[in-house]
Amino acid sequence: MPRFDVTVVGELNLDLVLYGLPQELEPERELLAQGMALTLGSSSAIFAHNLSAMGSKVGFISRIGSDPFGQIAMDRLRAGGVDVSKVRKVSGLTTTGLTVILPRTCGRNILTYPGTMNEMCIDDLDLDYLADSKHFHLSSFFLHRALRAHIPELFRVMKQKGLTTSLDTNDDPDDRWDSHLLEVLNYVDVFLPNDREAKKIARTEDLENAIFALSQRVPVLAVKLGAEGARAVGPSGQVCCPALKVEAVDPVGAGDSFDAGFIHQYVRARGLADCLAHGNTAGAFSTTRPGGTEAFRDRTNLERFFDQHGHKGRQQ
Ligand code: ADP
Repeated sequence: MPRFDVTVVGELNLDLVLYGLPQELEPERELLAQGMALTLGSSSAIFAHNLSAMGSKVGFISRIGSDPFGQIAMDRLRAGGVDVSKVRKVSGLTTTGLTVILPRTCGRNILTYPGTMNEMCIDDLDLDYLADSKHFHLSSFFLHRALRAHIPELFRVMKQKGLTTSLDTNDDPDDRWDSHLLEVLNYVDVFLPNDREAKKIARTEDLENAIFALSQRVPVLAVKLGAEGARAVGPSGQVCCPALKVEAVDPVGAGDSFDAGFIHQYVRARGLADCLAHGNTAGAFSTTRPGGTEAFRDRTNLERFFDQHGHKGRQQ
């Protein structure tokens, strides 16, 4: 039996959220926030953390700096049960990345310093460790600048070693949506874009066309539709799942939590409808607390929420 259910390559950093700021951020003024939170951020880390909270065995590789923020992020991931023994800590001028989120009623500002996430390279990855798993996942494709050209080969090797694979590109800060992405899709079993990303990648304004085009490229496509729920297309056809009715307080990390819920069932060989429903539940659950991992850190609440919606909260 492989050591892990899922191994993940990705970025690892904290989110600093400042609540209750004035609507207008006037330059040169001292503007007061009414609250703040420092939580585990980054798509890959949120995915790994929440997947582990549901009971999957998860191994994670990333590159962080030798600064306190990198250490805190790694400690949070370890406390969530994720194996971080292969996270590479480097000394040098580049520190671990950080995202500052400024939520206001007129919309959020999201400011990211990428730091070491731009510099992770193929030599940082222990391929034997990654291959000792049933499944391999990569998030934030476009943020891995130094690794990107090697990602098709990384997926090819994981497939060749017998793992199934999944990919969530997340946003492309350059808005170009290329860089070897179509090459990677040749080795992806489950592709997990949201509706905006699906349209950008398929280069169409029409969601139906995007879903049709992308579903021709991968065995399983799951498209996240925010408060509308999600849709999936697989060998047995198409499934739709409306969103759960929840009091959503923060959308940060909903997509990564959806991925975690979907893949948690996929590695247990569940059917497409079960994977989609579990993803939908995990995405909705994530929105009930601020930040991407806070809801999943409360195990009692996790069990209760999943139970209420007809799923098991934790499954080995
Ligand atoms: P992303 O974070 O990638 O933009 P979405 O915002 O589409 O992803 O959210 C991912 C999933 O989380 C959705 O497909 C849905 O299942 C769930 N979700 C998101 N927002 C809500 C909401 N307001 N109410 C219930 N479920 C939600």
